[in-house]
Amino acid sequence: MTATDTTTTPTETEEAFRARCQAFLVEHATGLTFELPDPRGANELAAAKVFQQKVAAAGLAGVTYPKQYGGQGLPKSYDRIWREEYAEHHDMTGQLTISHGMCVPMLAEYGTDEQKATYLADAIAGRTVWCQMFSEPGAGSDVASLQTRAVLDGDEWTLNGQKVWTTLAHVSDYGIIVARTDPDVPKHAGISMFIVDMSAPGVDIRAINQIDGGQHFNEIFFTDVRLPRDALIGELNAGWRLATAMLMYERVAIGTGSSSGIKTPTSDFLIKTARKHGMLDDAITRQELMKIYAEETAKSLVSLRTRAELKAGMTPGPGGSLGKLHGAKIARMSRSVMMNLAGPASAAWDVGADDADRLASSTLRSFSSNIAGGTDEIQKNIIGDRVLGLPRDIAVDRDVAFKDLKVGTQSS
Ligand SMILES: Cc1cc2nc3c(=O)[nH]c(=O)nc-3n(C[C@H](O)[C@H](O)[C@H](O)COP(=O)(O)OP(=O)(O)OC[C@H]3O[C@@H](n4cnc5c(N)ncnc54)[C@H](O)[C@@H]3O)c2cc1C
Repeated sequence: MTATDTTTTPTETEEAFRARCQAFLVEHATGLTFELPDPRGANELAAAKVFQQKVAAAGLAGVTYPKQYGGQGLPKSYDRIWREEYAEHHDMTGQLTISHGMCVPMLAEYGTDEQKATYLADAIAGRTVWCQMFSEPGAGSDVASLQTRAVLDGDEWTLNGQKVWTTLAHVSDYGIIVARTDPDVPKHAGISMFIVDMSAPGVDIRAINQIDGGQHFNEIFFTDVRLPRDALIGELNAGWRLATAMLMYERVAIGTGSSSGIKTPTSDFLIKTARKHGMLDDAITRQELMKIYAEETAKSLVSLRTRAELKAGMTPGPGGSLGKLHGAKIARMSRSVMMNLAGPASAAWDVGADDADRLASSTLRSFSSNIAGGTDEIQKNIIGDRVLGLPRDIAVDRDVAFKDLKVGTQSS
């Protein structure tokens, strides 16, 4: 049993619940409409929040979370039903993936009762949005080398440092951050996890320009930001274990999706587009589409296994890395197909004019899937170490106090 399990006996049968999900989704999951251009993603997020509030009002949000924290207190089988039905409709909540796929599960599993009572209901209902602040300029794959410091000063923590690549920080109400709380011990041992109010004085959020014209992520500077003492999540200096758990949730959220059946959305989209462009009979295009279809089917099967582990009450394990890796591979394989289908417009396209815009933008964005949530190389290391049982990488810094390491700005 995980902390999010509940023993409430459902008053509604699974069939009745499924019918209610179907009726709700047919009426409301009709595709997000929001004003374009939307380079910062704020309009899309606002529309996703409106939808999620309707989900909550209909008594369908946070299916397995306890009622006292804004969930429905239902067994995991009901959550599976919601996911199955949701997967049949337009994705309305992609912008809430970090909030719902990573931050809410962490608060529910590791937060204090008070933190759960304060934050969970609003987050589940989409009234508040959360971001994840792990990466720093000198600490990405090796997050444990992070240099942002949190120092206890009386009854408050003082936070100083910098984070980078923080998705949707500019429209988030709160964030989960990992910061160094003890530089005198080895790097993995002196980290803690905190809740940050993104509107607190001293939090400076600056946009990063992306190659596709978007500005979805940010760098954030913290200057003497005051956090209440009870902003700590879990034990002091236990942040590495929590960060690892959150990264597992992240890989599942990115790599597993919400479906519980075999889904091939990328190949479906590419086949439809190839047909539209009169390329479906082209032998090379067909061969590439078939490879993508096979890879996507394999990804779906891996996702089903990960979902089964979650259903059995297990915290997602390193198998989540496999789903994430498959997703990145599919994105990589799709690039050349999308460029071929777009033709000359793949090099110079009119924004919003036709599907060349979508194909070219998707191609540019696809590179991020090999990096976001941990790079392909890091996923392969995790699979090698923890799934296949291969020898671990040599770590020369494991027993050295963090302050003596040559990392980040400490390297000069
Ligand atoms: C779209 C997107 C959204 C993101 N959103 C967030 C967010 O919301 N919050 C957040 O905290 N971060 C976020 N990130 C940051 C992301 O987690 C990091 O970019 C990622 O972990 C890689 O870190 P890095 O960029 O510092 O690269 P580095 O760690 O510097 O890696 C550089 C290269 O070295 C390779 N490498 C590094 N270490 C090893 C090793 N041990 N073995 C083999 N190869 C290695 C990597 O694979 C990579 O090719 C986001 C990134 C993207 C692309």
